Amino acid sequence: MLIATVIVVLIVVGGGATALALALSDHSSGLAGNTTSLTVAGTGSTTSGEGPASSIAQTGGTGSTGTGSTGGPGASGPGASTDSTSADGSSSSTGSSSSTSVAAKQTTTSGATTSTTHAGTTTSTAGSTAASAKVVVIDPGHQAKGDSSLEPVGPGSSTEKAKVSSGTAGVVTRVPESKLALAVGLKLRDSLQAHGIKVLMTRTTQDVNISNIQRAQFANKNHADLFVRVHADGADDQSTHGIHVLYPATIKGWTDDIAVQSKKAAQLAQQDLIAATGAQDRGIDARGDMSGFNWADVPAIIPEIGFMTNPTEDKLLETAAYQDKIVQGLTKAILAFLGVK
Ligand SMILES: [Zn+2]
Repeated sequence: MLIATVIVVLIVVGGGATALALALSDHSSGLAGNTTSLTVAGTGSTTSGEGPASSIAQTGGTGSTGTGSTGGPGASGPGASTDSTSADGSSSSTGSSSSTSVAAKQTTTSGATTSTTHAGTTTSTAGSTAASAKVVVIDPGHQAKGDSSLEPVGPGSSTEKAKVSSGTAGVVTRVPESKLALAVGLKLRDSLQAHGIKVLMTRTTQDVNISNIQRAQFANKNHADLFVRVHADGADDQSTHGIHVLYPATIKGWTDDIAVQSKKAAQLAQQDLIAATGAQDRGIDARGDMSGFNWADVPAIIPEIGFMTNPTEDKLLETAAYQDKIVQGLTKAILAFLGVK
């Protein structure tokens, strides 16, 4: 979520001169009552994930952002940096196809003969000795400093959204969401690796600048069997607490190829997170406003591991014991999703 006021600018391409700017507070309850297809979750006064849903829902017309998209689902071909282990290095993983290309989801790679990856399938690399290993890409949400420059919310979309926001923060501990997400993400990496899973991280430090599109493209490029984006939540009402898991809404041309598998992963994650932590069960939510979902060609979830605006949960989230419970729950769910014992 965002702390600061968010400005979303919708540029109507073809209309030429029309530009609409909306300034919305981060905890806007604008989700209620909106009728566009982009936002499915009705989380009311809470905000979650990579940024505000309400702003996108209010600015995004279905014509420009949804079914009219020109970007069909396709796999980014195996690029030169397929073997990199982190997207931290701006030169290694995200490269040329980042913010300037609005229709880059369908990528043609020179020499590649296939370009389609459906949810739940993996593409083996000829000669790879680890072709059968399951791959999980973990994306610890946010980063030390947000980047408010804009990128399309989905391939071919004229609706734009901040590349990456700075997230929420602990109301008592003052710990930023980015730091909590990184700590839990690193523990999750270690846990999954101990079960033989190949884990790649979008970042392993705070001081990076990686947009949500770039994070998704990193998961695509590495043919992740699951893309796990770790976030925590915030709300105006400090009594709000608990865990929920987000997954991509079905948007034709963007996420219709990953929605079913993503929902399955979300259900498993929610169930096992609640069992492991005893946190309040807030269910799962389909979301159409997350750039990092809309650009993904692989199954993706966002576990919202707790409310940092709830004093009790904030303090709990900073304890090693509670983080371990979260990791334990996520590990169980991910292994089940991947069919790994
Ligand atoms: Zn977040």
